[in-house]
Amino acid sequence: MRMNKISASQPAEKAGQAGAAEPVVCRSCGAVYANGDWTSARKLRAGRHPRWQPAIMVTCPACKKIEKGAVGGYVTISGIFATVHGDEIDRFVENEAERIAEDDPLSRIMRRIESTGHLQIETSTQHLARCLGTALAKAFDGEAHCDLTDGSKVAHVTWHRD
Ligand SMILES: [Zn+2]
Repeated sequence: MRMNKISASQPAEKAGQAGAAEPVVCRSCGAVYANGDWTSARKLRAGRHPRWQPAIMVTCPACKKIEKGAVGGYVTISGIFATVHGDEIDRFVENEAERIAEDDPLSRIMRRIESTGHLQIETSTQHLARCLGTALAKAFDGEAHCDLTDGSKVAHVTWHRD
């Protein structure tokens, strides 16, 4: 399933050329834009598009957002269980994010900020933040909440387990 609503919004701008020449490749993450859609570098490495030879270098929308620090979602992880199983949760979140990025290459983890008692993860899209909250609750129980305040485009997700 592709996130067409994201990738279809300004294709010419995303391709980095007025004529929307493609395929193009992101110089930061290797994502490829072709046939009107972004494909993650990971998926390309899996050999699904072995004949693509992108020649035009751009910065993809996800990397632009990351450069600008434009956060799409926050996931705040807290609780005793989360602290004790920190490494396991880190690995889970990373794997989950990679899996989600295969279908939605514009969804990335931007930053992780650790502080006493909780971990905050910044994501490039609200979609990824919500998926991570749901996945954590499904895998480890605990409680996940998502706030989309005032029609804001930023998701505030929390997951807590003691
Ligand atoms: Zn990129």
